[in-house]
Amino acid sequence: MDFVNVALRIKPIHKNYLFDENANTSCLKIISKEPPVVLAVDRLKTYDFDNIFTEEDNQETIYNECVKPLIKYVKEGYNCTVFAYGQTGTGKTYTIGTDPQVKDQNQLGLIPRTLNEVFEYNQNENLESEILLSFIEIYKEKVYDLLQNENNQPLLVKGMKAEGFRKEKVFNFRDATHFLNMGNKNRHIAGTKQNAQSSRSHAIFSIYCKVKHSGHETCAKLNLVDLAGCESVRKTGNKGSTFDEGVNINKGLLCIGQVMTALSDNSSYVPYRQSIITSILQDSLNKNNFVSLIACVSNYQDDTTETIQTLEFASRVK
Ligand code: ADP
Ligand code: MG
Repeated sequence: MDFVNVALRIKPIHKNYLFDENANTSCLKIISKEPPVVLAVDRLKTYDFDNIFTEEDNQETIYNECVKPLIKYVKEGYNCTVFAYGQTGTGKTYTIGTDPQVKDQNQLGLIPRTLNEVFEYNQNENLESEILLSFIEIYKEKVYDLLQNENNQPLLVKGMKAEGFRKEKVFNFRDATHFLNMGNKNRHIAGTKQNAQSSRSHAIFSIYCKVKHSGHETCAKLNLVDLAGCESVRKTGNKGSTFDEGVNINKGLLCIGQVMTALSDNSSYVPYRQSIITSILQDSLNKNNFVSLIACVSNYQDDTTETIQTLEFASRVK
């Protein structure tokens, strides 16, 4: 497997939209479904992906293609990261699965599926292991511990590293979902005009696996990251304080792009310390690790600008 796998997930068209005869949804066109997959935007430019997922691909498929192969690496001691990137409303949170309200098992996102497998893997492989979880949020370049709800104070950051967030030891799937639910309730949400539930923050759910192999022990983590929306501030109609958020959030997203580009270009300088999210993920973002980026997009004509922006980001990361 390559250091980075880049997938595109196209959100299904809403039912109401299908009945609108004037609606134009031809913003994207899939040219081939075999890797390297090529895609045209307004038939002007093509982009390559490792996978393209459409409404025919369910949550299980995304899990199997983008996350399942990483479990083995984590158990062997390599830090891995899954990013959901995209405009607000395109399915980042749905994909990552931080929302515990999902009742239908088929709708479960990546986090619960991963947790399930992490425990199962240990049983099947008869591994002696210890599993811990952390759940943090980055908002306006400040870090909040979502597993510590007593106060809403940001964590102390020293040398661009956040200090003292909780790592909870868990013994089974039920324990783990308890902490996922708790963290999700604590998530900092500032609604925007575009989507009242939209999160303007990045959320990082990490699963740490300490594994005893014959003779040695490895410790690695899998980060599942629900990134902030990448839409322009202009589109969400924000002013004042919320405008600030836009600026800071974009800095984090921009920096992830720069770090990934520097890595794929084998550049001698990787700008980890330009944003808090890349500093925190520094130990997971280098060529000895594995990264899976899921770029979420809308296929509506109205969203073409944001969709192209996401495609450009994804192709820079590759
Ligand atoms: P984001 O986190 O990117 O803002 P959400 O994950 O909140 O977007 O998705 C917006 C809405 O669309 C939610 O109601 C979600 O359940 C729904 N949704 C997103 N992607 C899909 C999908 N692939 N299939 C079905 N529903 C989806
Ligand atoms: Mg979201």
